[in-house]
Amino acid sequence: MSVHEWRDEVVTRLRGVKYPGFSRDIVSFGLVQDMALEGTELKLRLKLTTPDPAVPEKIGKEIRDSLKGYGPVKSVTIETEVAPPQATASTGAQGIPGVKKIIAVASGKGGVGKSTVAANLAVELAKAGLKVGLCDCDLYGPSQALMLGCREGLRVEEGTERIFPAVVHGVGLMSMGMLLGDDSPAALRGPMVTRFTQQFLRQVAWGDLDVLVLDLPPGTGDIQLTIVQTVALDGALIVTTPQEVALIDARKAIAMFRKVNVAILGLVENMSYFSPPGSRERHAIFGSGGGAKEAERQKVSLLAEIPLDPLIRQCSDEGKPLALAFAESPSAVVYQKLGTLIGKTLFPNISPQAF
Ligand code: ADP
Repeated sequence: MSVHEWRDEVVTRLRGVKYPGFSRDIVSFGLVQDMALEGTELKLRLKLTTPDPAVPEKIGKEIRDSLKGYGPVKSVTIETEVAPPQATASTGAQGIPGVKKIIAVASGKGGVGKSTVAANLAVELAKAGLKVGLCDCDLYGPSQALMLGCREGLRVEEGTERIFPAVVHGVGLMSMGMLLGDDSPAALRGPMVTRFTQQFLRQVAWGDLDVLVLDLPPGTGDIQLTIVQTVALDGALIVTTPQEVALIDARKAIAMFRKVNVAILGLVENMSYFSPPGSRERHAIFGSGGGAKEAERQKVSLLAEIPLDPLIRQCSDEGKPLALAFAESPSAVVYQKLGTLIGKTLFPNISPQAF
């Protein structure tokens, strides 16, 4: 039997083995590094990015199950190597030339204020003197162009097909949704989304940036996973509201990042309380303490508790984030502190003007 014959069959079977918790298979994930058939013993070498021992165990069992009944393979030996965090490049994640730090703002659940946090954080980091880019990765519901009041279109360079971001409020802005016509997202599914996302993230000409903030789509599915495996992240910020229903999904988001060895920068609790204008009273509309408890459970920092503030919504709708429009307001002070914390974490050795 030729090498091609058994290899093709083994690869086909391994494509049926999913990475635990995800719908992507271990081959397309880039986990299978090497294989050899010695007699009837198949030797596989896998490279994982998680130190969790349950993962290779589960994958090993599924690999053996998938090869059952395939005559030429009577036994399987699996050697696993756990790559250190920066070696996520083994699964395709790469830095972006000219970009010093890349962070993701994520949430399990939609509507918790993730994009609003990403926009105000980007603005705060730019106010502190950093060169900042913001990338709206939500194909199906992009909102950053509206939130930042961007009227500029995208510029695509003929020949190279490189995409140049718009610049608004001192922040380089790019939105995946801008590249698609009104009705195309619905037609874009599965592997096409993966290919489009990877191509998009690599094709943008960001230029020199200190920080690129990725506003991830809500959820913890394949598209989020594709993003975190395409660009090497320096950390992720998880946005939630105090309610259990949002916290459940925040937990899933944290688990997803941990699986691929991305550091959690911390939790941001949005819509934490409402203070009537001019009052210091705090009304816990969505409950209180949820973010703090979860942060403790997950051993991560609670970076900010952002109030429910109609001004935040109004500013977003008008295309000028609160951090710029009402920089002195109590809610903007919370964003400013968040910006300082993130800035200091990412650049412990430099002191941008506002840190
Ligand atoms: P997500 O990105 O999680 O889907 P958005 O950032 O789009 O959520 O926010 C959803 C809506 O809630 C928007 O209309 C936004 O202006 C509003 N919003 C977000 N955070 C706050 C807040 N702290 N106070 C008041 N409104 C908010």
